[in-house]
Amino acid sequence: NRQITLASRPAGYPKESDFNLVEVPVPAPEDGEVLVKTIYLSVDPYMRGRINASKSYAANVEIDEVMIGSVIAQIVASKHPNFQVGDVVNAGIGWQEYGVAAGDGLRKIDPTIAPISTGAGILGMPGLTAYFGLLEIGKLQERETVFVSGAAGAVGSVVGQIAKIKGCRVVGSAGTDEKVAYIVDELGFDDAFNYKEVTDYHEELQKLLPDGIDVYFDNVGGAITDVVFPNLRIKGRVVICGQISQYNLEKPETGPRFLWNMITKRARIEGFLVSEFADRHAGALVEMSEWLRQGKLKYHETIEEGGIESAPAAFISMLKGGNIGKQLVKIADI
Ligand code: NDP
Repeated sequence: NRQITLASRPAGYPKESDFNLVEVPVPAPEDGEVLVKTIYLSVDPYMRGRINASKSYAANVEIDEVMIGSVIAQIVASKHPNFQVGDVVNAGIGWQEYGVAAGDGLRKIDPTIAPISTGAGILGMPGLTAYFGLLEIGKLQERETVFVSGAAGAVGSVVGQIAKIKGCRVVGSAGTDEKVAYIVDELGFDDAFNYKEVTDYHEELQKLLPDGIDVYFDNVGGAITDVVFPNLRIKGRVVICGQISQYNLEKPETGPRFLWNMITKRARIEGFLVSEFADRHAGALVEMSEWLRQGKLKYHETIEEGGIESAPAAFISMLKGGNIGKQLVKIADI
């Protein structure tokens, strides 16, 4: 059983040398537990915060501990009455080929709805983040205007599509021309811009959303977010989902102080964690699965095929924008 452990705490962007590949025996499940074999490993932005020394909203990974993370896995031994060998589940066993998980609270993935990899993407945590962030925190109404940053990623690509389902005008920002073309041509965003090419974000937003923004879904923070405030409409909502532009900074950035716009626009800003809505995840997945079946939601995955040893490289690549849609690592065949 090969695992990736944390070798050192990165300064700035992580490096492959911040991780170790180690081999340990395959564990045995106790009563109430299952042994799973990882099929797909999910690499996610929140993992960057968990390998810092400073405390986040959840416990950090210690040096020499297995990297935190969730996987799509198949059960190979079960000591829990609700799970049979062969079942596919979403388990939080971290970056390893095999692991033991408690059966209680484990989510089964139905392989008849969509490919099982979607359980880590559009029909998993990122999709649910888009759904609850936009509809519950953003309180999106039909025919409003939406701007989403990080728009070609796992969360952002779903945000824009749900907003289109609700009849809204949607503009996104992303880091390559290929991503911009993908979200407009394939996903149906009304417009998008490459934030690495555009120099004046304020001017760009005024051009693409001349009547202002009702809901801003923020995945990235930094300079793009700064210029949203003067472009908000009256009673606009700013949903703080992620701040990935800040995660690898060694010194915090200070930006223009535009918050007075929150007063004049009588606007609202709110952060959230997808886990707050855990008791409603199952219901949301039913609705999202139906949208997927009807072709109203589409998805793309960027899959690193190099096995467990390629997980650090895939993680670093995702942090630097190498992915379109959900970034996964293929670990084994089912
Ligand atoms: P993505 O699939 O969007 O991958 C990360 C993307 O971030 C990259 O592809 C890159 O795209 C973009 N990025 C990297 N650096 C920068 C930068 N300096 N400025 C702007 N964009 C940058 O990841 P997810 O969809 O999984 O997550 C998106 C955001 O949502 C993250 O901030 C994450 O922390 C947050 N999140 C929050 C949750 C919550 O409960 N609140 C739950 C899940 C995710 P590009 O080429 O466009 O730069």
